[in-house]
Amino acid sequence: MTRLYRQFQTWGRNALDLIYPRECLVTGEPVENNSPCRYLSIPALERIYFIHEPHCGTCGAPFFGELIALRDCPHCRELNPAYANGRSLFFLRDTGREFIHELKYRNGQRLVPDLSPILRRAPRYLEFLAGSILVPIPLHPVRERERGYNQSLLIALQLGEISGCPVQDILERVKFTETQTRLDRSQRQANMRDAFAVKKGVNLSPDQRLVLVDDVFTTGATLNSAAKILLKAGVQQIDVATLGHG
Ligand SMILES: [Zn+2]
Repeated sequence: MTRLYRQFQTWGRNALDLIYPRECLVTGEPVENNSPCRYLSIPALERIYFIHEPHCGTCGAPFFGELIALRDCPHCRELNPAYANGRSLFFLRDTGREFIHELKYRNGQRLVPDLSPILRRAPRYLEFLAGSILVPIPLHPVRERERGYNQSLLIALQLGEISGCPVQDILERVKFTETQTRLDRSQRQANMRDAFAVKKGVNLSPDQRLVLVDDVFTTGATLNSAAKILLKAGVQQIDVATLGHG
């Protein structure tokens, strides 16, 4: 059974190589045979800017200089988060930005396995997830139909595979919101208010630690709105984890 499954995987990969030649999505050059990724070359992998400590406890943005003594960065001080801690894996620039963009808008399912070698370079990030249940931020059904998938669910499943944490897709998006890129911080917060609900029939235990998973942390409005719903539903330990910050 396993051998047959692997055989299917190999055929699937070969078919993918015909549709999407193994060109690095950052450099456009062929991906080296010894690259751990299918769509990122070794030079592109070196241009992922991982976030290290010390960093903001709410969004994961790194601190520089005298800010080290504070818990939150200036952007997060007004957020008043309904969750405890937030981590971001990398800065949303260069390879990180390209990767997220492709993942969201250009048939991103094929890129998901490339997350594994990226995550293995970030042991502290995986430690942060340990012992939690991963909860992806849902898309509105209209948006999910357009895109064909929810990138946050794909990310959560891959994080789950590497970290061993279970994934529970327990939230739904009950409010359709236009893209937020042109909205400022307070407009985003208003826009996201009551955007989520816990799916019917889901039982949440206050003892479980849930980590909300999304592709990027921008103002935190989306993640915070989802965290508020979980808090209202009685969850006491809520954290958030995103790939990109910016
Ligand atoms: Zn912050």
